[in-house]
Amino acid sequence: MKQMPTLLEVYQAQRRIRPMIRQTPLMAAAELVSRTGAHSIHLKMENLQNTGAFKVRGAANKILSLDDEAQQRGVITFSTGNHGKAVAYVAEKTGIKAVVCLSAHVAPYRVEAIRKLGAEVSVKGHSQDEAEKNYQALTVSKGLVPVVPFDDPLIIAGQGTIALEIMEKLPDTDVLMIPLSGGGLLAGIAMAAKTINPGIHIVGVSLEQSPAMLESLSAGRPIHVEEKDSIADSLLGGIGDDNRYTLSLVEKFADEHLLISEEEIKDGMFYLFDRHRLIVEGAAAVGIGALLNRKINVKGKKVVGLLSGSSINSDEYIRIMQSRLSDGGEG
Ligand SMILES: *Cc1c(COP(=O)(O)O)cnc(C)c1O
Repeated sequence: MKQMPTLLEVYQAQRRIRPMIRQTPLMAAAELVSRTGAHSIHLKMENLQNTGAFKVRGAANKILSLDDEAQQRGVITFSTGNHGKAVAYVAEKTGIKAVVCLSAHVAPYRVEAIRKLGAEVSVKGHSQDEAEKNYQALTVSKGLVPVVPFDDPLIIAGQGTIALEIMEKLPDTDVLMIPLSGGGLLAGIAMAAKTINPGIHIVGVSLEQSPAMLESLSAGRPIHVEEKDSIADSLLGGIGDDNRYTLSLVEKFADEHLLISEEEIKDGMFYLFDRHRLIVEGAAAVGIGALLNRKINVKGKKVVGLLSGSSINSDEYIRIMQSRLSDGGEG
């Protein structure tokens, strides 16, 4: 029988991963409060996390849980970038071998970042699903230990440590806004936060371009959606054909789902730069984009928005900011 992760495992993860991660700050965003009528809005700044995204939490929890024999064999994963980087980082710090499978869709600067961390990179196929097939073949032929990006109780528990940091500093949070793709992030945070405070309202923000989790939730089983380019490339990809954990956890713990367009994501990115001097990648700006575009009413609420990462190359980032400036700003 499959065992869903529990709050106890999130606390165990917190202790286990401490040497690999930083406790990221919560920043009060006064500008956003006046825009939305919220009581308060805080940003949980995983954009400042080691490797540039929260994924190091799950990866560290998984890899540090492996026994000696498994660590000696080495680990393998597939990823749109941030998870691959996290696995490479933890493997390098732990002194074990890592292979990262990517599709040709993954931006070259991300591939380079993973190589630099000492991992072996295998590029094959043109979608996350094809990268996953390559990964499955290599897992068997090389006898490596899989470290999946989201559908694993230890990964979910690792991401859940974010909730412990939020609930410790801001225990009366009303609304938590979380970017949603494969669902490991939302599942871990929501399970932990709701176990601590059942009244907290969990909002998942998905890509209008590729809402694989939402389509799967309405179908009651994993659904493939066409993979289009997105400015929030960290949110691309399916939920896996044999999803075991995140689909049911997201179903159980998410209270509300929002869809966000490419333009709205840019609104979020520009606003964070222009008013808060924060540089984030597209995936990290979805919650702020949703707030700015009034996709959710947070009047009088204590809100925490998760900034999930900052992996974006300078060219692309500057191009987006420039296009907003020539539009006369986001207003
Ligand atoms: C992976 C990732 C997400 C989404 O996490 P899931 O567990 O796949 O839902 C959000 N933001 C960033 C920056 C990511 O790298």
